[in-house]
This record gives sequence, structure tokens and C-alpha cells, in this order.
Amino acid sequence: LTDKLQNVFKNLRSKGRLTEADVKEAMKEVKRALLEADVNFRVVKSFVKTVTDRAIGQDVLTGLNPGQMVIKIVKEEMESLMGSEMTELVIKQGNEITVFLMAGLQGAGKTTTCAKIAGQLKKKGKKPLLVACDVYRPAAIKQLEVNGAKQGVPVFTMGDKQNPVDIAKASIEHAKENDNNIVILDTAGRLHVDESMMEELQNIKANVDVTQTVLVVDAMTGQDAVNVAKTFEEKVGIDGVILTKLDGDTRGGAALSIRAVTGKPILYVGMGEKLEDLQQFYPDRMTSRILGMGDVFTLIEKAENAVDEEEARKLEQKLRKAEFGFDDFLSQMQQIKKMGGLTDLLSMIPGVGSQLKNVDIDDSAMDSIEAIIYSMTPEERANPNILNPSRKKRIANGAGVKLQDVNKLCKQFEQSRKMMKQMNGMMGKGGRRKGGF
Ligand code: GDP
Ligand code: MG
Repeated sequence: LTDKLQNVFKNLRSKGRLTEADVKEAMKEVKRALLEADVNFRVVKSFVKTVTDRAIGQDVLTGLNPGQMVIKIVKEEMESLMGSEMTELVIKQGNEITVFLMAGLQGAGKTTTCAKIAGQLKKKGKKPLLVACDVYRPAAIKQLEVNGAKQGVPVFTMGDKQNPVDIAKASIEHAKENDNNIVILDTAGRLHVDESMMEELQNIKANVDVTQTVLVVDAMTGQDAVNVAKTFEEKVGIDGVILTKLDGDTRGGAALSIRAVTGKPILYVGMGEKLEDLQQFYPDRMTSRILGMGDVFTLIEKAENAVDEEEARKLEQKLRKAEFGFDDFLSQMQQIKKMGGLTDLLSMIPGVGSQLKNVDIDDSAMDSIEAIIYSMTPEERANPNILNPSRKKRIANGAGVKLQDVNKLCKQFEQSRKMMKQMNGMMGKGGRRKGGF
């Protein structure tokens, strides 16, 4: 995939603004990546449309080519979509009891997650109480008791003969009597979303002052995650989502699907069966995982950093004094080469990028340009003004190119130098623009 993406980037040479063609081209790969990550296809469709609309016409940041710029926008959009607000469980202040209702399909990881949360809250000095509201499988009560014991957290059960609403109500009284300030209700799930499961959750909510309802979803749910999340949100109302089993090799597209469809934040992610494997949710990590473009992200970062500040500063000094010679031209080109032709050293300098867009330096021409410059004497490189026809002929012979190639290079060089002189007045106005994220 990354290879494919890099090809896309090569085809998209640096331009001032993102054209519709630029965006469409890069979006094809984005779409593929999202579908591979099992993001719901409808979500993919609308997400791609939103980002396409936003991206067309945007300025390409200095240091990035159009393809990378599109990915940068995609990345930003995904991050803000998945993490525009605090993703923490809300806990009531003082001695008021906080009640969490944990909901989700069977096997999603509710019971495990209840215990994980209880353990973490206990470490923070809270006094949680786990409540076994799954009365349909006796094994479920036992499982909660075992997990609770491991965490040193009390578990409230009434066996499997009472109904979940009564158990939940009784647990609140029990919590008050026993000084527990957090109540975590572990409920039953079904294999599929069904009416009676929803009714049961509605009844609990109607009878108990639930602080937050948390939907637990298996990250491997894939395309179906949207239906699950939508139904729970519509029928019961949820405040946040916990995505489990992200320690597997799923890319976790469910995170984007759920967020896009319900608008509810992902609170935590389950990263394993062990009780400490509940982690905070990081939108940037999730974005990278879903897109599967870690390499490209690194590439973008590299392009931004490859020319270190010091080098840019030195070059700027030279430009100010109009001392820019062929050696600088060459080292600029080598920078471009080092980064695979992805960026332009000069474009890192404020205001220069757009001025240089007519100076065409493509990858294939680079080798012959390099040869020409290497055939110059140090004096000629530092002081291009001394290049006369006979010197140029000698250089052409040395480089194995035609005289007109040398002339063309000299002309391009003169052009950029002239522009740089014009830049002198402009420079120093702003800092170095950097497309950091
Ligand atoms: P429930 O039916 O929703 O209560 O689901 P359980 O809590 O019983 O979990 C079902 C299975 O998934 C159990 O075997 C858990 O150990 C496992 N599980 C839960 N969360 C995770 C997780 O984050 N990673 C992994 N690998 N397994 C998990
Ligand atoms: Mg369970």
C-alpha cells in the first residue's frame, strides 16, 4: 500500500494549490485504506466527500507535495472527528454516587472492562462496587466475582433469580450503606441487537440514576459496528464507547465508524485480556492505525525536518547577501534527492516556494544537472558570473552533455538567483513556515 502511495506522491508534483485532480488521486488510496481497515462503507463515502470538498483549492504547505498535503488534511480531519473532546468517564464530585451502565453485545468485553475500570478507579482512591446484572448466564456472575476479587473490588450479586432492574436498584442502596462512591453495572448482552436487551437497559435507566451509559464494542465488529452503535444510541442513549480487543491485528476502523455515526467519544481502548490492559484513547494513534500509513506520516515528518533549521538559516544568510552559488544549488538538489524528490529546500524559506514554481527541477534531470555542476571549478561554482562561452563548452564536454544543457541550467540558476534578490526585501518578515502537525 505504501508503495502505491509513494507512486501517487511522485505523480503529484508540487504545485501551489490542491487541484481537484490532486485530491481525487490521493483520495483513491485513502478510500482503499479506510475500507481495508473495515470502516463502514457509508462512513467512508461521506468522510471522503467531506475531506475532498475541504481539500480542493487549499494551499500546499511549504515542504509538502500535493499528495502529502491531502494526507495531512485527511489526518487532521480524522483526528478531530475522533477526538474533539475530553475522553474520560465523568465522575461525580464529593460523596454522590456515580453510576456507570455498561452495555454491549455478548462477548464484546463488558465484564472484563467493568473489572478493568473498577481496578483503575480503585487505584485513584475511589471506592467502586461491581454489580452483576447479567442473570442469564450463571457463569457471568462467577466471572465478575473472580475478576472483582483480582482487583480487590467488591462485587454485588443477587444470584440469577432476580431481575436486573431490581438488582441495580438494590446495588445503589448497598453502595450507600457500604460507602462505595462508584457503581458499575455489568449487564447481559445478546449475540445480536434485540428488543428485550434494549428494553432491559431502558428499564434500568428508568429506575436508577445512571451517570453515564458506556457502550462496549469489539473492535473486530467491523462493518456491523455502525448498526450496533446506532441502535444502542437510539434505543438506550449512550455517552461514550469503549473499543476492546485492539491488541489483535484489526486496524480498528470501527472507531471511526462509531464516532461518525453516533458522535459519541471513544473513552478507552482494550488492549488485552489482562486487567491492566485498558488504555486511554489517542485519536492520533488511532488515525495512524486506521489509515495504515505510518510510513507516509514518517515521510511527511522527514520532509519537514530533513532540512534542519541550521542549514536553512545558513542558506537564508547567503541569500540575503546574494551569495547563492552553484554549490548551494547543488546541495539543495541533493537534499531533494535524499528525500526522494519530495520537497524543495528553497521552499522551506518563507515566501520563496511559490516564486520558484517555474523553476523546473525534476528527478530525471537531476543527474545531468549534478554532472554539470561537478564539471565546474570551485571558482565557477561560487562565482557563476565568470561563466563565458568557452568555459561553458568545457563544462559541457566534461559533463557529457550538450552546450545548450549548460546554458539552460545557467539560465534557470540566474532566474532563481534574480528572484532571490527580490526576496531579500521580503525576507525576515515572517518566520519559517512549517507544516507541523
Ligand atoms: P461480555 O460478554 O461482553 O461480558 O465479554 P467478556 O468480558 O466476557 O469478554 C469476552 C472475551 O473477550 C473474554 O475472553 C475476554 O478475556 C476477552 N477480552 C475482553 N477484552 C479484551 C481485550 O481488550 N483484548 C483481548 N485480547 N481480549 C479481550
Ligand atoms: Mg459479561
